[in-house]
Amino acid sequence: MIPVQGFSGQKVAVLGLGRSGLAAARALESGGAEVLAWDDSETGHDAADREGFTPVDLSRAGAFDGVASLIVSPGIPHLYPAPNKIVALAEEAGVPLDNDIGLFFRSLATNDWNRFDTSPRVIAVTGSNGKSTTAALIHHILEEAGKDSQLAGNIGRGVLDIDPPGDGGVVVLELSSYQTELARSLTPDIAVFTNLSPDHLDRHGGLGGYFAAKRRLFSEGGPDRVVIGVDEAEGRFLAGQMAEGAGDDRVIRVSVDRKLGGPGWSVAAKKGFLAERRKGKQVASVDLRAIAGLPGAHNHQNACAAYAAVRALGIAPKVIEGALRSFAGLPHRSQIVAVKDGVTWVNDSKATNVDSAAKALQAFKRIRWIAGGLGKEGGIAGLVPHLGSVAKAYLIGHSAREFALQMGDVPHEVFATLAEAVASAAEEAEAGDTVLLAPAAASFDQYPDFEKRGEDFIAQVAQVAKVTG
Ligand code: ADP
Repeated sequence: MIPVQGFSGQKVAVLGLGRSGLAAARALESGGAEVLAWDDSETGHDAADREGFTPVDLSRAGAFDGVASLIVSPGIPHLYPAPNKIVALAEEAGVPLDNDIGLFFRSLATNDWNRFDTSPRVIAVTGSNGKSTTAALIHHILEEAGKDSQLAGNIGRGVLDIDPPGDGGVVVLELSSYQTELARSLTPDIAVFTNLSPDHLDRHGGLGGYFAAKRRLFSEGGPDRVVIGVDEAEGRFLAGQMAEGAGDDRVIRVSVDRKLGGPGWSVAAKKGFLAERRKGKQVASVDLRAIAGLPGAHNHQNACAAYAAVRALGIAPKVIEGALRSFAGLPHRSQIVAVKDGVTWVNDSKATNVDSAAKALQAFKRIRWIAGGLGKEGGIAGLVPHLGSVAKAYLIGHSAREFALQMGDVPHEVFATLAEAVASAAEEAEAGDTVLLAPAAASFDQYPDFEKRGEDFIAQVAQVAKVTG
């Protein structure tokens, strides 16, 4: 745990007692703060009880008297579409808002660091898609390189739950826009921006607000190096803003759709070949095409971003290449779950928005595409240009009929459940086909979360394909 510094003897309120809220409450207490913990839900109350926190109703009059800060969980709206009631009360009382990420950055460095040969470093990854994969890949490469690395944030562990890093230790954080928007302190040593596409617009008042929330990771603390995907206008703008000039190698540009020339530092992958360029020359390359854990241009983008981040720490290209090859991929992201009779079964249940589904559809040939669930605004209109390799779509869930209307000439059929769609795809698939679950929709109409949907897919595939691995 990272004990929170700066609040000893003060009252700090914590709103939302999920994983990060509870970790924050524990870390605050360990730093000597008096914690007022609150969650509206039954599960939140139970969790507080289990951890020995007495819930304090923050909506009652005077609840914020003498409170130094309100720590808000990422799931709780702090501004759009409207601030949560308790957040609004804190603001009226003049109490500053923060979150576990802000507490982490203000508390990480300790006097122990004076004895270290190499100060611990933090690599923070944000972007619309590929954050988890990129963060997990960076962590994997660092471990393979023999570094002491810990992975936390939006993935796996709450940031305040990690062990204080030792001499030369690295902390790899995955940060969502909700987290970067609110954190009062954001001081990574290396900041990574994977890409940008519209998502969570209701929580950010539109695309500009969403980009601004992510941009804080780069503008608040002044990282030593930034790694920026420049395949969208926002990334190009951000890279330009961070650089002093074309040759400024504090900015490492990443692309999978353009050749990056010029005197600066770049890592680009076209047609599956990663090339690192510095001062106008190619200095290293890696063939990504045969790496099973990183299929498709979207994963090549993640590989480039991770490569750049660890190069910035001085890891050698050969070591990185070996680690890329041994990366197994993350569950529910382009995860190959079975190969039987020449048919490959891929679980990309995490493809909950149009952009991530489009990337999955571009990563495979002759696809039997299982899609649907709780569709987002606009349905799959944005996917129409990417349906060229779809032999047939198997549409499920709440938005199946809406999606069917948008399919045009592409063969499709509506099914009530994922199990029925899998059974039908199994009957119709031919050798060389990929059956791809990439729903382009949230899972909440039929499952508690995308993980459960992916696990159900794996279970159904095991029934029909009888081989997993
Ligand atoms: P995040 O943590 O940003 O949600 P993940 O690594 O969990 O990112 O991937 C989310 C979804 O996006 C998955 O469906 C995955 O296959 C897809 N994806 C992964 N990397 C990228 C990328 N660089 N660009 C677009 N989609 C991606």
